[in-house]
Amino acid sequence: MTKNTKVAHGKGSVAIIGAGVNGMFCAYYLLKMGYRVKVLDKVADGLTSKNNAGLLTPSLTPAPKISTSEVIKALTGGDGPISISPLRVAADPIWFLKAAKYANDESRTQKIIDMGKDSLKLYTEFFGSEKINADVKKGVAALYSSTEEARRLSKKYHGKFIGEKSIRSLGYTELQGGIIFKDELSINPIKLFAGLREKIIELGARMEFGDEAKLYVRGGSVECIRAGAKKIYADKYIATAGSWSGRLLGPTKINPHIEPARGFSMLFSTGGRKIISAPALLEDYGIAIAQHSANLVRITSFFELQGMDHDLKKKKEEWLLGIIKKHLINYAKMKLIKKYYGFRPCTPNNMPVIGAAPEIDNLFIATGQCRLGVTLAPITGKIISEMIDRRPIKKYMWLREFVKN
Ligand SMILES: Cc1cc2nc3c(=O)[nH]c(=O)nc-3n(C[C@H](O)[C@H](O)[C@H](O)COP(=O)(O)OP(=O)(O)OC[C@H]3O[C@@H](n4cnc5c(N)ncnc54)[C@H](O)[C@@H]3O)c2cc1C
Repeated sequence: MTKNTKVAHGKGSVAIIGAGVNGMFCAYYLLKMGYRVKVLDKVADGLTSKNNAGLLTPSLTPAPKISTSEVIKALTGGDGPISISPLRVAADPIWFLKAAKYANDESRTQKIIDMGKDSLKLYTEFFGSEKINADVKKGVAALYSSTEEARRLSKKYHGKFIGEKSIRSLGYTELQGGIIFKDELSINPIKLFAGLREKIIELGARMEFGDEAKLYVRGGSVECIRAGAKKIYADKYIATAGSWSGRLLGPTKINPHIEPARGFSMLFSTGGRKIISAPALLEDYGIAIAQHSANLVRITSFFELQGMDHDLKKKKEEWLLGIIKKHLINYAKMKLIKKYYGFRPCTPNNMPVIGAAPEIDNLFIATGQCRLGVTLAPITGKIISEMIDRRPIKKYMWLREFVKN
């Protein structure tokens, strides 16, 4: 039997598809404004928004430069954090051609850095007012094997240069130069995810899990969502479906052009020992390390454009563990306890897709934040909620350019 449910009206009703960190921050701000919110997710446990590095580091936003030799290595299955499946290239050559065009284009980088900094302010407010314990650590390092590179980038990104001795005191070795971003943060994404969910439920969000939601569009509006046997009606709808956004938006004919970029997290127990004194990005390898608590270290890496496959190859795992062994002074004290994967929702031009859906009057889209989806989640939620409340933030009007059909 088909059950019809309507999201109850207060200021208005909003149905959000996708209970990742972006969907939940949209819900958070809308609930605070007095909207009635329903959040739907096909899975109850979360995936990418729990299994990421948890670095809120807008200064390190610029996509790492990728040389032609690295692209060849990525296509041919060589060592390293990046891999590209030739099958994916064949399936969507336009995405990869555009990605090649924009790979080393920094023209819009500053916009994303500024957006990330606004988001960081919102995180500070959020952690201050909501008392969510997400193992927040202030101060993140970017570490390099070249002193010159670290010096050059410290000037460019306005961080403090550190030398080999200071790097050792943080728990890392065989790295010659680094940059400290003293105001940027590391969090434990599993705790942020759980805390956010608890908070939005406390604020009145209704959450439903287990069914893939489908949009039903008629005459320029979303008429309802179907999830399993239910039809869900709301005044406004938000698609925050991460790497599945293209599939969800299919019926609207809007293509956000998202390619999933797989990454892995590994959790290590430490027996209560301090392994590092500051979270860091090993920039030469695309590896992130954070010690969330006395007994938990997280190592994260890989940017793999190979669809939704989630098998971590033994060779890749050995590469990652080999690098960590080389650069972590206390590596031997850690024990691997869990491995996770996630899919970053990436656009070919590195720009997020955040805003009102073209030609559909009650639909909003928030996806494509790729490597920065956690960093940008509060500002994404703020932008979308203010837009729904008919007070669009002028500063972010430029985002319209990237919400294309
Ligand atoms: C290894 C790794 C490291 C990372 N490190 C960082 C980092 O340090 N800092 C940072 O800022 N970002 C990082 N990221 C990126 C970040 O994790 C993602 O960009 C972010 O989590 C995306 O969040 P989201 O809410 O947009 O999507 P998701 O977390 O993917 O959530 C989307 C949800 O929508 C649901 N869904 C999809 N379609 C449907 C449907 N039709 N019906 C119902 N439900 C649906 C899915 O089940 C999913 O739960 C990392 C990612 C990875 C993989």
